[in-house]
Amino acid sequence: MEEVRDAQHPRTFSQYGKEITLYFMAIFDEIKSIASVLQEAGKIEQYRQILEVQSQLLQMQNDLGKISRENYELKEKLRTKENIVFQNNVYWTKGTTGEMDGPFCSRCWDKNRDLLRAQPISETWFQCPECKTQFDVGSTRGIRTHAATHHDDHI
Ligand SMILES: [Zn+2]
Repeated sequence: MEEVRDAQHPRTFSQYGKEITLYFMAIFDEIKSIASVLQEAGKIEQYRQILEVQSQLLQMQNDLGKISRENYELKEKLRTKENIVFQNNVYWTKGTTGEMDGPFCSRCWDKNRDLLRAQPISETWFQCPECKTQFDVGSTRGIRTHAATHHDDHI
C-alpha cells in the first residue's frame, strides 16, 4: 500500500531526507548499545573500534545526504528536459495540458541546464537576463499553443 501511495505522491526531498535520518538514527542506536556493552565488559580495543565505525558511519550519512540532494536536483532537471522543446532558436516547455511556455534561453540551458525565461525586448526579439543573448523567435503567434509546430501557417 505504501508503494502505491508513493507512486501517486512522489516524495519531496525533505521527506526523503527525514527517512535517511531515521534510518541512520536506528543504526546509531544499535552501535551505541553495542558500545556500552563493550565498555562495561572492559573491551577497550573493541570499544575504540566501534567508535571508529560510528564516526565512519556519520561521514557516510553526510555523504548520502549530499548525494541524495544532488540526485533530487538532477531528477528535477531531467523532468524539465523531458518537457522541453527547441523551436525558433529558443526552448519552450510543454505544460501538462500541452500549452507552450517560454521562451527560455537556449545558451543557458545547453551550458548549465539553467532554465532562464528570456525577456521581450521587441515584438519578436527576446533577451536572456543572465547571458544577455538575444533571440529572434519569429512570430510568437500560435507558439504558445499545442499546435506550435504549425505556427508558420498562421503568419
Ligand atoms: Zn542565457
